[in-house]
Amino acid sequence: MTYVEKSLEELCVERGMRMTEQRRVIARVLEGSADHPDVEELYRRSSAIDSRISISTVYRTVKLFEDAGIIERHDFRDGRSRYETVPDEHHDHLIDLKHGHVIEFHSPEIEALQERIAREHGFKLVDHRLELYGIPLKEGE
Ligand SMILES: [Zn+2]
Repeated sequence: MTYVEKSLEELCVERGMRMTEQRRVIARVLEGSADHPDVEELYRRSSAIDSRISISTVYRTVKLFEDAGIIERHDFRDGRSRYETVPDEHHDHLIDLKHGHVIEFHSPEIEALQERIAREHGFKLVDHRLELYGIPLKEGE
């Protein structure tokens, strides 16, 4: 898919968004983050690059990107919205409730099962979200 190989910046331009320098910085920070950061974390990272970036700019920018469908918002039940770029390959999330880590996984069996369930109900599956919540089995992990 060529769509996903484009940078956020290119996708923004394609959608007719005006790319300010601050939006560019935030777009790059999002692309460089593999850990599903929330707005405050994005703000920390972006303002370290450009100190003029305010938290409200980060809020507005992620909303803009989200509305344009170029980033995804997740709610992992800790009261904070977290963001990631739309991934090139679909994955689901396992949330470590003890440490707050987010683990990405992909299961062909689960994918097939979900499609089967949808089909059994007379639907063609077009999207899904799956979040697993767990605590580490062993201490110190
Ligand atoms: Zn993810």
